[in-house]
Amino acid sequence: MSPSFHETVAELDPSVQPGALQHHITRDLPGVGVLDFESAPAGWVAKNGERRSRDHRAYYLTAHGPCPAGCDEGREPGARPGTTRKCKTCGGTGQPKRRQLISVTTLIGQITPKAGLMPWAEARGIEGAVEAVRRGLIDPADEAADVVRVVRGAGLGADRARDQAADRGLDVHACLERYMLTGEPPRLQDHPVEHAGYVRALALWLDVVQPEPVSVEEVVCDPDAGYAGRYDLVAKVDGQVGLFDAKTSERGGIYDAAHLQLALRRRAMVASGDGMVDFGRVVLFAADGSWRMMDQAADDGLVDAAVDFAHRLGPVTALCERENRQARREQAERLAAGPASGRLPGRPPRQPRPVARHRRARPRPPRRHPSPRLALRGDGPPRAPR
Ligand SMILES: [Zn+2]
Repeated sequence: MSPSFHETVAELDPSVQPGALQHHITRDLPGVGVLDFESAPAGWVAKNGERRSRDHRAYYLTAHGPCPAGCDEGREPGARPGTTRKCKTCGGTGQPKRRQLISVTTLIGQITPKAGLMPWAEARGIEGAVEAVRRGLIDPADEAADVVRVVRGAGLGADRARDQAADRGLDVHACLERYMLTGEPPRLQDHPVEHAGYVRALALWLDVVQPEPVSVEEVVCDPDAGYAGRYDLVAKVDGQVGLFDAKTSERGGIYDAAHLQLALRRRAMVASGDGMVDFGRVVLFAADGSWRMMDQAADDGLVDAAVDFAHRLGPVTALCERENRQARREQAERLAAGPASGRLPGRPPRQPRPVARHRRARPRPPRRHPSPRLALRGDGPPRAPR
């Protein structure tokens, strides 16, 4: 179970080099194959010379052993007797082709509903809008669509909050990894102040639980189930070896997705030759500096169902994406062809209707107890209660 991957970080403005990767981890799994993880952020140039429209994160497995078609070093019998041609299965290499595996994160995203995501995003959006008003970026009289654009553009909405949560997760995971590999304890001054509670929680957990590292942040895969992922920590606690999945959550919630993730990674560990562990546990670090743990609640049956569901859903998702892209292309072509297209010949273009102004029925009576805060800010006359 020793770490056997090499990590390379691209240097010297790699974003313009076609196919450049930000991270590349490769691990040779004896008896299985070579597992590669690669990532590149949106905006970097892909192999085809185009800028990536979204973050690229993908796992690939190149199985060990001969071509599954049983060809003769890349050649298979041709149409006419006595002739050979390039093997279609392996493309003439005589070895299995590199194939992409679905990532545990993607798989989970497909099947577990994000409970609480909508109210969370709504709350962040409202907070962002209020902050934008305070900063004078928007006015209550602005069009709603403009307000949304301004709030997002100023980095005050839910997207920004989600990115911040992701940064926090990465920071805490890096902290855990560093401690497990070097014994260097987490130091609050090394982290942004908004991560302080989580880092304190991690330090407390390390102190109380005293995990002895067995292996850290390894890439693993289950080739038969067709997925891959990276686990956080395998460690010995009280004489037993366990797989730990670390999470950060503002208010300390643990969700079903974490259990499924743990179970998927645990099975992949076994399939990757890393052996069995005695237990799986989700460990949660919260903003107030507290931590808690939960034993793995997802069983093998759930893993089977999840993998099966993801593989059945995958082609449907891909088909929809393909058709939607095609539809958008056709729509763009219609727009480019001019305003007349798509309308019946001989019919005059429709005139835009004048936008009706909102009618104020009656002047509103002043509020009985106007808020001094509002009045002081000079935001206009105080509004009447509805
Ligand atoms: Zn072949």
